[in-house]
Amino acid sequence: MPVDRERVVALDKRRVWHPYTEMQAYRERVDPLVVVEASGSRLIDADGRSYLDANASWWTCTLGHRHPRLVRALEEQARRLPHAALAGIAHENASFLAEALCAVAPAGLEHAFYSDNGSTAVEVAMKLALQYWAQNGRPERRCFAALEGAFHGETLGVTALGGVEVFRAPFAGVLLDAVHVAPPRESGDTPRAIEELSRVIEGRSAELAALVVEPVVQGAAGMQIYDPAFLRAARELCTAHDVFLIFDEVFTGYGRTGPMWAAEHAAVAPDMLCIAKGITGGMLPLGATLTNERVFAGFLGGAERAFYYGHTFCGNPLGTAVAREVLRVFEDEQVLARAKPKAARIAAAFESMASLPGVEGVRAIGMIGALELGSGDYLTRSGWRVYDEARARGAYLRPLGNVVYVAPSLVIPDDDLDELLGIVRASVEAAVGGSR
Ligand code: PMP
Repeated sequence: MPVDRERVVALDKRRVWHPYTEMQAYRERVDPLVVVEASGSRLIDADGRSYLDANASWWTCTLGHRHPRLVRALEEQARRLPHAALAGIAHENASFLAEALCAVAPAGLEHAFYSDNGSTAVEVAMKLALQYWAQNGRPERRCFAALEGAFHGETLGVTALGGVEVFRAPFAGVLLDAVHVAPPRESGDTPRAIEELSRVIEGRSAELAALVVEPVVQGAAGMQIYDPAFLRAARELCTAHDVFLIFDEVFTGYGRTGPMWAAEHAAVAPDMLCIAKGITGGMLPLGATLTNERVFAGFLGGAERAFYYGHTFCGNPLGTAVAREVLRVFEDEQVLARAKPKAARIAAAFESMASLPGVEGVRAIGMIGALELGSGDYLTRSGWRVYDEARARGAYLRPLGNVVYVAPSLVIPDDDLDELLGIVRASVEAAVGGSR
């Protein structure tokens, strides 16, 4: 049955409150894409037009849309056991996925706590850190360190870690105590950033529960890439002052930056690792927080020391079944190795766009390429002009303010990738030219 596009849009505008959207402008001016299907690297709308999905649907579909093996894993699991509470119940998928995640994760991560998404994966890590210190001799450790420009999700807990002012400002005064450090922003800035970090960690170690970072790439900040040496220094400082180090690899995990984990760029391991998004290849919401033995052991020894936390759908059999299959596909299809030449294509294309009028800077790492249009922040509109141009050319290219970026599926066919990169260039040229 064809989709009644007009009716969908009418109900959407009447009833649906969209995420990260100024609803008045949306209702008055936006003609939304109405997507009815997706396949590989493309979204297909109600009129049968296809759009290259430049951000793999909010950074999740690392294996493209509707990978047949993931669809099969989901169907098979749905026929057997769609859901069971993980409270006092074990099931095959939760067990084997935890084993597989610990095997593939940076060294020393031994236990998996499941939740629903990226925000909850980080929220779990924060609560684990706070409770750990509360019951293991350092109850005064109630503060967090994080990075300027950081983004760790939506709950009130993780909002405290966020370093994007527009997202934090409405909640000022009710957030947890957090101190922010500016990561290195350009080459030569690393010593300054390490010095600043060491001042914070040394100076406030008595009150710090953990340092939380997005390793190497800060996604929502506009694909800001920083020197892995900063991460190594963070590890050394946290170890020296016995502060937990938490890596949020919700975006950077599953090969987005080249290796399986961005932590590998610095050859360091965190005390806790937060995972979501790519974990199910965009099929279902699922989060996991991996911890080392020390964190886990800090919750043993009596009922009052247990972690009283658990979302209804944690460890959901459908999600964990698909997540197991994702890891198998990564191995069987050599996804990371085969993405390497694609990453090189992205880097070359963005490098070549550096000289376009209006482009102030370009950056690329792994399957991420980004360019900055003038200066600005999340509310800057320049990226949206490029979005409109790209949409007319057959790509979904949602910007981050003045930052236009691609973060496509890791298995995007070369032809699709070249087409996408061509659309980015043409759209930037048209948008900048058109705005003069
Ligand atoms: N951490 C990072 C690094 C993210 O990029 C995001 C989402 N963009 C989150 C956490 C939150 O994930 P979710 O939207 O699944 O809650």
